Amino acid sequence: MASEWEIKKQICDLGRRMYEKGYVAANDGNISFRMGNGRYLCTPTGVSKGFLTPEMICVVDDDGNQVGGEWPRTSEILLHLEIFHELPEINAVVHAHPPHATAFAVAGVEVPMCILPEVEIFIGRIPLADYDTPGGKNFAETILPHLRKKANTILLANHGAVACDKTLEQAYFHLETLDMYCQILLLSKQVGKVRQISEPKVNELLKLKESLGLDDPRLEGDCDPCVLAGSDEFLRGFSTCAIPQHSADANGHGRGTGIANLPSQNGQPQPTPGASRTAIVAGKVIPASLGGSSETARRRAQEDEMERVVQLVTDQIVQRISLPATQGLHAE
Ligand SMILES: [Zn+2]
Repeated sequence: MASEWEIKKQICDLGRRMYEKGYVAANDGNISFRMGNGRYLCTPTGVSKGFLTPEMICVVDDDGNQVGGEWPRTSEILLHLEIFHELPEINAVVHAHPPHATAFAVAGVEVPMCILPEVEIFIGRIPLADYDTPGGKNFAETILPHLRKKANTILLANHGAVACDKTLEQAYFHLETLDMYCQILLLSKQVGKVRQISEPKVNELLKLKESLGLDDPRLEGDCDPCVLAGSDEFLRGFSTCAIPQHSADANGHGRGTGIANLPSQNGQPQPTPGASRTAIVAGKVIPASLGGSSETARRRAQEDEMERVVQLVTDQIVQRISLPATQGLHAE
């Protein structure tokens, strides 16, 4: 393992990168590292993370008491310790307020899944922890349920994001991937639609993830890999129309026709020409038995089905009305 001085220098380097990327303003954010034997290095409070020096890095014990360093430790050390205590394999924690990711945390919208392969493999699900006042024990415990599901990157409601992994750089990379992903999602909305990867292809990514030795609760198989309350929230903010559904081919290679459309000039959603109107999200039929997390998806599926029936009846009426004229044309 690198020396304590080397780790302190790495923490300073990451602080500078976070600051230059715009993930932290003023004195925001904090970084910590598990040294072993109940000792942890962490950043000081009240200092810009863009201008740290190794002498400023603090040392704390298992309870967050400062046992080394001249500068007072970060006030958010309890959040970091919650991670270290819950996940023994984790050595590094990075907390910041990356703007695109924090926009989702402020909107109270969970980041949708099954859109970018890198996110599926290196992060997986990105849960949204409940809000609490930063710094206290209650705040630290908001992430506990998500740590128990092995999340390595968590949004903190009305606050920011926290990421963890075995090394400082890996933890920091989760923040970079997260913020880039959230930026791409927001840009995609402006372009007009967001498409999810079909479920068979997501399962391929999960197998690849497993082969790389990376954990994901979806590998255990009981949860739907793509359908999430969070995805639904994102879609709801995008358009008021029912989701134009995926139409995977027999091999499961089909892509969706987009999970939401641009509104037309009069502000009403436009149907996608030729789009399948079946009740499928990410290549999967939404069963009515799914619980609250996919309630909106199920409701959309029902609305879609109703719309399909109305369209079918309308088509038949139009066909009957136009039939004699068409036959007349052929007769001439
Ligand atoms: Zn913070």
